[in-house]
Amino acid sequence: MQAAAVVVGRLGLSSTPLLATRRLTRMADTLSRPSSDLAKFREVYKKAKHVVVLTGAGVSAESGVPTFRGDGGLWRTWRAQDLASPSAFARDPSLVWEFYHYRRELMATKHPNPAHLAIAEAEQRLTAEGRRLVVITQNIDELHKKAGSKEVLELHGSLFRTECTKCQEIRPNTDSPICASLAGKGAPDPNAVNARIPESELPRCQKCSGLLRPNVVWFGEGLDNNVLQKAGK
Ligand SMILES: [Zn+2]
Repeated sequence: MQAAAVVVGRLGLSSTPLLATRRLTRMADTLSRPSSDLAKFREVYKKAKHVVVLTGAGVSAESGVPTFRGDGGLWRTWRAQDLASPSAFARDPSLVWEFYHYRRELMATKHPNPAHLAIAEAEQRLTAEGRRLVVITQNIDELHKKAGSKEVLELHGSLFRTECTKCQEIRPNTDSPICASLAGKGAPDPNAVNARIPESELPRCQKCSGLLRPNVVWFGEGLDNNVLQKAGK
């Protein structure tokens, strides 16, 4: 069975949980090596039964989605890695929820770009031919799904799912705002005042009323095993 893989943009895989992604990293390293042999790629692509498209922040950057990493990438006075961690959430869940609330609300103004759309179209075309295309992405913005991609493995989770810290239930959630107390909060400028929302007024689980967190993979956390297994297939 022939398989082909396409890497869109540069993947920042080295900044993700390393052990878990070692296989993918190796794959990406091999694939990112500049190759001028487009003809050969086309040949492999034409015959491939399975095509994997790996995407990272680059494809979302084209849609204007900020990553809060690197130069100038601050939310208030923080970088993503200061807020996207279990310890930051334990210390100040209100602040971390403000950050994610901002990112969720911002996505209402962001749309899939031609790269997302081309990938979705390619999936449709290949499916019609009895072939298969799977997107494996590091992005949490769901723009691939918005573009129409059906088979998407989200290595780092999604802004639009919540996970209960008590019963661990994961649910889709596109509410805007996600809870009343976060309405109008989350302003990104450095002078914005932290909302200091009491924990009881932050997003809560409908089943057990435990505190919810975003269902995203934070710094210091491993990737979802289910997603990894699917990605390895
Ligand atoms: Zn719960």
